[in-house]
Amino acid sequence: MKKIEFYRHNIGEEDIRKAGEVLRSLFLTTGPVTSEFEEKFSCFTELRETVALNSCTAALHLSLLALGIGPGDEVITAPMTFAATVTSILHAGAVPVLVDVEPGTGLIDAALIEKAITPRTKAVVPVHLYGVMADMKAIRRIADRHGLAIVEDCAHCIEGERDGVRPGHLGDAACFSFYATKNLTSGEGGAVGTRDPELAGKVRIFRLHGLTSDAITRHSGKFRQYDMEVLGWKYNMDSIHSALLVGQIDRLSGYWERREAIARKYEKELGGVPGIRVPEVKGKSARHLQTVWVDAKVRDRVVEKLEEKGIGVSVSYRALHTLKYFRETFGYRPEDFPVALEIGLRTLTLPLYPKLTDEEAEYVIASLKEIVAGCQ
Ligand SMILES: *Cc1c(COP(=O)(O)O)cnc(C)c1O
Repeated sequence: MKKIEFYRHNIGEEDIRKAGEVLRSLFLTTGPVTSEFEEKFSCFTELRETVALNSCTAALHLSLLALGIGPGDEVITAPMTFAATVTSILHAGAVPVLVDVEPGTGLIDAALIEKAITPRTKAVVPVHLYGVMADMKAIRRIADRHGLAIVEDCAHCIEGERDGVRPGHLGDAACFSFYATKNLTSGEGGAVGTRDPELAGKVRIFRLHGLTSDAITRHSGKFRQYDMEVLGWKYNMDSIHSALLVGQIDRLSGYWERREAIARKYEKELGGVPGIRVPEVKGKSARHLQTVWVDAKVRDRVVEKLEEKGIGVSVSYRALHTLKYFRETFGYRPEDFPVALEIGLRTLTLPLYPKLTDEEAEYVIASLKEIVAGCQ
């Protein structure tokens, strides 16, 4: 039986060649190839600045710090996300305040945000779940009314658009991930995209210990003394990872088209099937994850049986407030966020990537239908 992997990346020979050139050169850490990546990525996102980092978690953390968020501040986000969205708020020293999600999309419910705002609230972190953008126009209006910053978790969404708005175009900072299973990957990696050069400047200082001068500047031959003005972190992206990413940017749109075609097939074939629900798409989805929702009582069994059939699946995500650490630290009860709870119990994610063939997608669809019918 042929295994259908959950994900297969798109790093090709030309990307490996470019990384090889870096390895054969003198300069391995953050340098000209990183700048090349940053400039190209800014062109794609149409954001003025990109600061390349070693993860999206780092991007979220440093964006919050650069916006002046710290101890005593509250940051609003949703429990239907990956743990890093909330751990980065904690790393910044702030208190995460969760609001529930919409039942049709799993996105933060903008109508619930205002009720969660207190005098200590400083920012909102919307997550563009599965690749569908949160309602940024509504969230921007709320943020403006209350003087809040917006840090977008764009780990799933480079290519999306909604109501004419793209990732980072209404937020203060957009945080991208180049983790192993993301649409654009170098194994590990991340970036902050922003329209604000001042914010980008702060993130640049924070990403390298708080030093005012980096290795490439010190290496440039023109001696310049460095200083350390603030306490920073070690979150910079090196040239090897940068080299793997540069060429993939040119191929992003083609890859998106292929995922869009597969996702439409999934939606068409699985949409009306009893016992299966496909989340709603609003605007242009980046088509990062193809999630379906099944009955909570059978979800784990369906996942097991798909794996038995050689299909790689994952759960994106168990509701954060039900995970031990968050439960014990914040005293959350399952019913505090009923919609996220329900989605977390019903959700499973199918393979979705450009290398997935039509035949493989059809096998996934037929297998899921058969398993769910057998579980009814
Ligand atoms: C992957 C992911 C992250 C973290 O990305 P890293 O680059 O691994 O730090 C954050 N948020 C969401 C929603 C993710 O899926």
